[in-house]
Amino acid sequence: MSGFKGLAVPGPTNMPFEVRQAMDVALEDHRAPDFPEFTLPLFADLKKAFKLENGQVFIFPSSGTGGWESAVANLLSPGDKVLASIFGQFSYLWVDMCQRFGLDVDAIDCEWGTGAPVELYEQKLAADKEHKIKAVLVTQNETATGVTSDVKAVREVLDSLGHPALLFVDGVSSICSIEFRQEEWGVDVAVSGSQKGFMLPTGLGIVGVSQKALDQRPKPGFPKCFFDFDDMIKTNKDGYFPYTPATTLLRGLRASLDMIFEEGLENVWARHHRLAEGCRRAVDAWGLTLCAKEPKWNSDTVSAIVVPEGYNANDVIQTAYKKYDLSLGAGLSKVAGKVYRIGHLGYMNEIMVLQSLAGAELAMRDAGIPFESGSGVGAAVEYYASTGQTTALAAE
Ligand SMILES: *Cc1c(COP(=O)(O)O)cnc(C)c1O
Repeated sequence: MSGFKGLAVPGPTNMPFEVRQAMDVALEDHRAPDFPEFTLPLFADLKKAFKLENGQVFIFPSSGTGGWESAVANLLSPGDKVLASIFGQFSYLWVDMCQRFGLDVDAIDCEWGTGAPVELYEQKLAADKEHKIKAVLVTQNETATGVTSDVKAVREVLDSLGHPALLFVDGVSSICSIEFRQEEWGVDVAVSGSQKGFMLPTGLGIVGVSQKALDQRPKPGFPKCFFDFDDMIKTNKDGYFPYTPATTLLRGLRASLDMIFEEGLENVWARHHRLAEGCRRAVDAWGLTLCAKEPKWNSDTVSAIVVPEGYNANDVIQTAYKKYDLSLGAGLSKVAGKVYRIGHLGYMNEIMVLQSLAGAELAMRDAGIPFESGSGVGAAVEYYASTGQTTALAAE
């Protein structure tokens, strides 16, 4: 088929040309004497991306899932109690991992379309007088339902109760895209991956860990080797790794961080909000709804759009891909067939969101879903045209 393939899934995201170019390099010697001149500033800049001051960001050659595993394996012990909540496929999978590790997981089952239940966390933590709960897990951005949770509020609950549990955050589809402040919010471990906000290929698990959490690592804890923070700490301090790092991806990471800092992290967050708002206006104009139950849960990185009763969201996704070369995100697990998702994160601008919306309109038309052609695109155009500068100008 002629023309670009549209990638409107919430990860992998679109890769900037600058990042691709930065990775078109010969393989290099990761034990070379000048390698640290490249890695040490990279480590320091990653901390800025997480807004972490005291602590360390580790880069594992894995994916976000490996990042989850590193957090559990290094900071908890077999049988430890953890408090979590499930409101989508990703929050579910992290709980599933904890269970497979033999942790005692209290997972609050929430309606999909809502987010981390801060009040219930508060009740459970307040009742835990003996401080048996060792960690509280929050999925900041539930990519399956397009729901963002209030991480800061969970830290405030822990502090107001004087509860010492560590705060674990899944930031795979939020870090570098929506507001995240690891130091200020007292997040002990923040997990991310390369193929979402970092605009890179899949292949890196990027994990920010607070100094507090590093200092109180349990001994012996779980058996671990590949994901052992200790080995990373010992080698990273001199700019090296315990095993062969994904050097090509690290070159790409350098380029992506440069782009993010050039725009300004806060501007990146603002851009994501603006782009997402245009998408939400479109959904509204179509007469459809988001999976997110209330505006406070709306995600600025992904919108999960509910198709009307009697229609199958997979028809929309199939025709978008087969007929128009556009990848929309599928509904996962409980919401399979009920929603399709538009990812609007990473290397993204107004025109790219409008392209996804236009593709969704074509595909919904083919699937027989009733709505007025052009209504969603029109509403987004109206919103973008009537608010602020273009993102290209704003970036200058
Ligand atoms: C993508 C994603 C993951 C899984 O990351 P992988 O890189 O696929 O292992 C975990 N959590 C969230 C919120 C995600 O969006």
